[in-house]
Amino acid sequence: MTVQLPILDDRAGQARTSPEHVRISMASAIALRMRSGRFSRDFDFGGINLLLSYDEGCLSDCGYCGLARTRPGAYGDKSFIRVEWPLVRTDDLVARMAEHEATLTRLCISMVTHGHAYRDTCDITRRITAAVRTPLSILVAPPTLSRRRLETFKALGVDMIGIGLDAVTEQLFRSLRTDVPAGGLKWEKYWEVIGDAREIFGPWKVNVHTLVGLGETDRDLVEIFLALRDRQVFSYLFCFNPEPGSRLAARPKSALTRWRRMQLARHLIEAEGYGAERFEFDQAGTLVRLRADRAAVAAVAGQGVAFMTNGCPGGDGQPGCTRPYGSYRPSEPFRDYPFPPAAGDLRDIGAQLRLESLVP
Ligand code: SF4
Repeated sequence: MTVQLPILDDRAGQARTSPEHVRISMASAIALRMRSGRFSRDFDFGGINLLLSYDEGCLSDCGYCGLARTRPGAYGDKSFIRVEWPLVRTDDLVARMAEHEATLTRLCISMVTHGHAYRDTCDITRRITAAVRTPLSILVAPPTLSRRRLETFKALGVDMIGIGLDAVTEQLFRSLRTDVPAGGLKWEKYWEVIGDAREIFGPWKVNVHTLVGLGETDRDLVEIFLALRDRQVFSYLFCFNPEPGSRLAARPKSALTRWRRMQLARHLIEAEGYGAERFEFDQAGTLVRLRADRAAVAAVAGQGVAFMTNGCPGGDGQPGCTRPYGSYRPSEPFRDYPFPPAAGDLRDIGAQLRLESLVP
């Protein structure tokens, strides 16, 4: 999905920045009937993702991100997780959300690193919670936050907090997000916000976005899944997807077999209680063996849940934010499924997973 989209609100003479305007994902625009279009497969979609929008864009400069400060191009033309994000008037969007409330499962405001991001997120949160009861998450920008500000989010009715750690080791985080041409982020600050959010919002109300394919090992990923699970914090898995023009544009995506195995490992840890002793790695940190019963692992894999998009739940506990095409292009095989995988999907997953060599 790489076509350029016109701005949906073209009133002349208005500054089109947050809090009066926000960007929304294409899938959200389709779900709210603000854009026409359909998904390649028919499925219910009720997760609405908003993104703050500023002329200066995001002031961070992460090596893999489509919004990065030193990535060439005007901010308005940049993509975020590879899809275009139309700009809409916040009040029009809130009215649409209220109109479609019965079909919505989860709302999320993604902050960006910007001096006004906290103030504007509070403003937009107030407008949303005054009109819509669908649970609201904020994917926060840690540099803009403090413990008191997180408490304010909670008081305003925010249900869950997401933290986009993305790079799962300190060394990787530093190389991609700290020691960069402009606007370095701090690993310590991210963990401070994870800890504060966990205390303020409670168990299973905080999630950490983790990325497969930035240069980390399987062991690094398994260790972070275990550490977060032990703190009753969700890990949400994303597949690195090269953004054209970003510093990591030439890096290939992870192989499907590795990706499927990491999806399964995350699920076994979080939903099935697997501990560190179940995972065996080689010298390079690659997962080579699962110490478990093959039939039991195959039964879990066969349920398909492990391969669905990780996202904040809806009010009924079912997947609420499913971000279709967040980790792959519509023309590519599904990396994560925004719906329960069907029989044919499960066959594909089984072939990609190659369980026989992982659980001998
Ligand atoms: S998974 Fe949660 S925090 Fe992440 S984008 Fe979706 S609603 Fe926001």
